[in-house]
Amino acid sequence: MITLCFLREVETLIYADNAATTKMSDKAIETFSDLIRETYGNPSSLYEFGQRAKEVLEQARKDVADSIGADPKEIIFTSGGSEADNQAIISAAKTGELKGKKHIISTAFEHHAVLHTLNKLEKEGFEITLLDVHSNGIVSASEVEDAIREDTCLVTVMYANNEIGTIQPIREIGEVCRKHNVPFHTDAVQAVGHIKVNVVDDNIDMLSASGHKFHGPKGVGFLYVKKGLKIINLIEGGAQERGKRAGTENVPGIASMAAALKESVAALDEYKEKLEPIRDKIINGLSEIPHSALNGDRDNRVPSNINFCFEGIEGESLLLLLDDKGIAASSGSACTSGSLDPSHVLLAIGRVHDVAHGSLRLSIGEDITDEKADYIIKAVKDTVTYLRGFSPVWRDLENGKNQFIL
Ligand SMILES: *Cc1c(COP(=O)(O)O)cnc(C)c1O
Repeated sequence: MITLCFLREVETLIYADNAATTKMSDKAIETFSDLIRETYGNPSSLYEFGQRAKEVLEQARKDVADSIGADPKEIIFTSGGSEADNQAIISAAKTGELKGKKHIISTAFEHHAVLHTLNKLEKEGFEITLLDVHSNGIVSASEVEDAIREDTCLVTVMYANNEIGTIQPIREIGEVCRKHNVPFHTDAVQAVGHIKVNVVDDNIDMLSASGHKFHGPKGVGFLYVKKGLKIINLIEGGAQERGKRAGTENVPGIASMAAALKESVAALDEYKEKLEPIRDKIINGLSEIPHSALNGDRDNRVPSNINFCFEGIEGESLLLLLDDKGIAASSGSACTSGSLDPSHVLLAIGRVHDVAHGSLRLSIGEDITDEKADYIIKAVKDTVTYLRGFSPVWRDLENGKNQFIL
């Protein structure tokens, strides 16, 4: 047992940061531990230890493929969502470059795994168009179509946003891309295992997903690549994953991820029915706070996501005080916390700097009961009031020196 020096028992804390990572399901833990004990062979080995591991790996590939309507041959296992995003984007860019196509379309509110990869390509001479996101946190398919050019080699638009939870019109964007014969990638890390995703119905050519966002283990994910599309490997070495991703496969992690995904996808309706009323209850409760606003469309969002801006306070202070009250939340993406820049997602939907600074993301899981929701609402209300009590920004708003925005 690893001992940590924290005073509180973990059971007394409320976890509301499932968009950052999720707790592994019992089934995922069981699968993982069974496999590390017994099925530790290398799947590339020809003797029985290896062949057992190979069978587990291929069954996991089939389960993962089934869960998104793909063929097992179209699945490449990776170290997670970031690697899958990098591989999809770099593959399309390098393939496009060979045909003289060096233009990529994406959006201003993508995850940094996408945005930073695009920055790198821009430095290498690619032209990047980042589409605006509407104030409701949704991108329009017709704007994607308008941005497509003769030399466009990729459109990459996320399925559901990790900060504000809004769901994008992926099927329509996919249709537009098919019509113009441009490969379409979607970062579906926040969608897979949370809402229904089907690569055929949704006209998707490449899709990234990550195990730890749907109750699987960390450090494992997958990339779906439609048959016939060229893919380039980022890691050189052995011939694993049909030569597209070298390195001995993380068999326990992959099988555990597949088990978590199968479970999540089978229970999508119940998940929605259970979480949406709790999500809406929290949204209604927090809406009562004066000079606050929900970020992202009210209805077109994943069942777990609640994201607010509160005028006159700092999101970071709110987080720390909520942590004191035993609530784990976020003020943006985990990657930007610690930096003083406001969230690029909130800026993309048109929040001004001052307002974007006072943001809070709660991403709930199935363990959030009605009672816990009440506790969260009260804790946030009390803390926002407390912080405004000694905020100079709030004082200037109240005495009319500055104008309220929300
Ligand atoms: C978490 C996340 C990623 C990164 O996935 P990792 O498995 O942590 O590398 C990428 N995109 C989105 C939208 C995410 O939420």
